[in-house]
Amino acid sequence: MAKTWRVFMLLAVLLFGVRLMAQEAPDWTNPFPPYRVIGNIYYVGSQGLASYLIVTPQGNILINSSLEESVPLIRESIEKLGFKFSDTKILLISHAHWDHCAGSAAVKELTGAKYMVMDADVAEIEAGGKGNFQYGDNPTSRYQPTKVDRVLHDGDEVKLGGTVLVAHLTPGHTKGTTTWTMKVADGGKTYNVVIVGSPNVNAGYKLVNNALYPQIASDYERMFRVLHALPCDVFLGAHGNYYGMEAKYARMKEGGANPFIDPDGYKSYIDEREQAFRAELAKQTAEATK
Ligand SMILES: [Zn+2]
Repeated sequence: MAKTWRVFMLLAVLLFGVRLMAQEAPDWTNPFPPYRVIGNIYYVGSQGLASYLIVTPQGNILINSSLEESVPLIRESIEKLGFKFSDTKILLISHAHWDHCAGSAAVKELTGAKYMVMDADVAEIEAGGKGNFQYGDNPTSRYQPTKVDRVLHDGDEVKLGGTVLVAHLTPGHTKGTTTWTMKVADGGKTYNVVIVGSPNVNAGYKLVNNALYPQIASDYERMFRVLHALPCDVFLGAHGNYYGMEAKYARMKEGGANPFIDPDGYKSYIDEREQAFRAELAKQTAEATK
């Protein structure tokens, strides 16, 4: 199976190389120094694709396997921090798009981690991206079909070694986009952490008369309601550019208050993304009623 997949990927690169390049931002594969964000949360992603390692006494939780070629980078980041890749017990994702989940089959194979995915994204994950309402027919967005070990539902808890992550269904970007929350202890205080799944309307998304996702607009509305209601001190997300990761990392290295504690940044980001969604919805609604 793995061999067949590699041959397929090679063919895909040869045949669709240009499209593949266009879909991969260069910063996605640039390594980034791993670091402790706060408490038991560590950044182990690349410059453009966020992966987080939650370290517990009973093993670790990895959020986002990212691209297939990200897996060696994630492993290296985990080892640079002094942790063991093989201690990864649970694998979670932000949503079923290849830039956050294509590496999951490799992570499972290398670590034996249990893969836990929100119900509405499970079919796509197990079909390797086939069936996605936007990219389903596009070979460049496919990945190795990966068995899900636990199907999550809105509000489910993922527990390991005293850490509790809560899965919030925040749909629209994909049908099962998941925003993760947890509490983290740091410097004698407890903080609410939010890892945003994605509030973005991608180029080409049909918000009106979408036969493959009829409820897409109301799902986005629901997602924004959920995100507005979540208490947030520590603002994180599926891509570093949601929360100005690089600038905050640079500030953190200078010392002082932890820049990832940013409740105002979270609120203004969600407000700005909601306005962008509403503007796109109004534009598409006007076009549809012309
Ligand atoms: Zn996405």
